[in-house]
Amino acid sequence: MNRNVNRERLRQESFDVCIIGAGASGAGAALDAALRGYRVALIDRGDFASETSSRSTKLIHGGVRYLEQAIKKLDLAQLRQVRHGLAERRTVIRNAPHLAHPLAILTPVFSWFEGLYMTIGLTLYDLIAGHDSFPKGSWLNQAEALVKSPMLTREMHSAVLYYDGQFNDARYALALAHSADEAGTAVVNYAAVTGFRRENGRIKSATVQDQLTGETIEVQATIFLNCTGPYADALRLLANPTIDQRIRPSKGVHIVLPRETLASDYAILIPKTADGRVVFAIPFGDKVFVGTTDNDYKDLNQEPVLEPDEVDYLLETVRPYLAKAPTRSEIQAGFGGIRPLIVSSRADTKTLLRDHEVEHDPESGLLSLLGGKWTTYRIMAQDAIDRVAELLNKPVKSSTENHYLIGGENYRFDDWQSLEAHYGLPADVCQHLMKTYGNRAERVAKLAQQELGLAEKLIDSQPFLKAEVVYQVREEMAVTLRDVLARRWRLELSNWQLTAQLAPQVAELMAAELSWSETYRAEQTRSYQQLLGEFIKQAGLPFEQSVMAPI
Ligand SMILES: Cc1cc2nc3c(=O)[nH]c(=O)nc-3n(C[C@H](O)[C@H](O)[C@H](O)COP(=O)(O)OP(=O)(O)OC[C@H]3O[C@@H](n4cnc5c(N)ncnc54)[C@H](O)[C@@H]3O)c2cc1C
Repeated sequence: MNRNVNRERLRQESFDVCIIGAGASGAGAALDAALRGYRVALIDRGDFASETSSRSTKLIHGGVRYLEQAIKKLDLAQLRQVRHGLAERRTVIRNAPHLAHPLAILTPVFSWFEGLYMTIGLTLYDLIAGHDSFPKGSWLNQAEALVKSPMLTREMHSAVLYYDGQFNDARYALALAHSADEAGTAVVNYAAVTGFRRENGRIKSATVQDQLTGETIEVQATIFLNCTGPYADALRLLANPTIDQRIRPSKGVHIVLPRETLASDYAILIPKTADGRVVFAIPFGDKVFVGTTDNDYKDLNQEPVLEPDEVDYLLETVRPYLAKAPTRSEIQAGFGGIRPLIVSSRADTKTLLRDHEVEHDPESGLLSLLGGKWTTYRIMAQDAIDRVAELLNKPVKSSTENHYLIGGENYRFDDWQSLEAHYGLPADVCQHLMKTYGNRAERVAKLAQQELGLAEKLIDSQPFLKAEVVYQVREEMAVTLRDVLARRWRLELSNWQLTAQLAPQVAELMAAELSWSETYRAEQTRSYQQLLGEFIKQAGLPFEQSVMAPI
């Protein structure tokens, strides 16, 4: 993906469809449209998946809670949504097996009756899923559950085991954008739509500002597809100020604890919180993510950061389920996202529909893909591009169902051993490269071999290789420190202090690749470290600011 080349294309070419927003919805839609042979542009005002799509719980699921609601309320729409989610689990994993896999989840219960209730529900969940590669669930007695997850409370009666999918959300979105780019899309990050030029009310072009240089470009397209998730109303109203708002943003946060909190590959589902929702504790790399919350969110200009009352709520919620309750001082990071819920007549955000909608404003011509969830991004994209096909009057069917994403084809995790043998890299590095880049891992290994110093790790305790930073700049359009540390690696999500410590080294490597001046490099490093310090402060965590490494 070459940003300069693609930005020039934005200036020169005229597109069938210009997709605004490169999270799950937009990146998915771009790939769908490009595979149908349309001329496509994909732009985002930040990095790929820099908003909600990098801050999810990282589950590919039908949603056990939605199933419960569907049954209790005899709600067929919810049931259909669960079925779609369960069907998509297979496809999401098959198309990018390096980034997604089945996850075992235990639900501890405190009585025989509760166990029976959960077993019936989860058996139904498995039945709806039908025949797929996911193992089926079972009801375990306390001893069996403790073998699988030794840190669970001895107070539990038993635990119900079931399976869903887990994935690396930001890298999945990047793989979608990258795949769209290889299929001919002009993909540009840090390119914000700041206005539309309209004739007789209809959009003719979009004014796009390069967020790195300040330059503006007028992008020409037949159709503009708004995929800006929780921010969708801003563009809808920019296109047509007379329409109503449709999005009700809802904030969800996670806290990040050491892996020893669970000391297991099994996640846990807490089936009922004080406010009637579910919370997960999920192993992810060498950490455990606990979340999420669900509260109305007003100020969309502010990044949704972790706050002290959310920390308390999540610690309080997991406490009864663990033998040793985690404390504030063990929290190593946190992250928050904003759900793009669609406004309905129902009162609170917990019952708002997670379903999606493709909206066409006949006056301005703007198409908007609203709502949805990560799990069903492919179906959402297909529905949106079906509508594009109709409006372009160029009917072509979607072919994303069986399309491998970048890195996914012929992926075998065990190939890390041949990487180790051929390139002499440590085993942990080779395994990390496989899980991060899939079948493109060898390209990174080659780069490490070819260029002096790039085969070194950034720090002994982690598998991150210097060559990766160079690869991410050259091949994956990384242009800021956060692009590397938060999204292409997931370090910012799991350890704020270590992220701050490694930022100067990453900045040095990026500076050489991107010809940053000394002043710019120092400023980028300082402001990123300051931001991380702010996260720690705002969450009310007892971390020492002094751990931030000197620049
Ligand atoms: C806490 C939390 C946990 C979740 N967990 C799960 C889960 O486990 N499983 C699941 O299936 N779903 C989950 N979801 C839902 C899922 O993450 C979202 O539905 C999905 O990521 C939304 O993707 P999106 O592309 O619509 O929005 P976003 O990812 O927010 O993307 C919108 C993009 O638009 C860009 N943009 C905005 N304005 C402009 C502009 N003017 N010009 C250019 N670009 C612009 C933004 O920069 C952004 O990148 C979760 C959501 C939250 C909040």
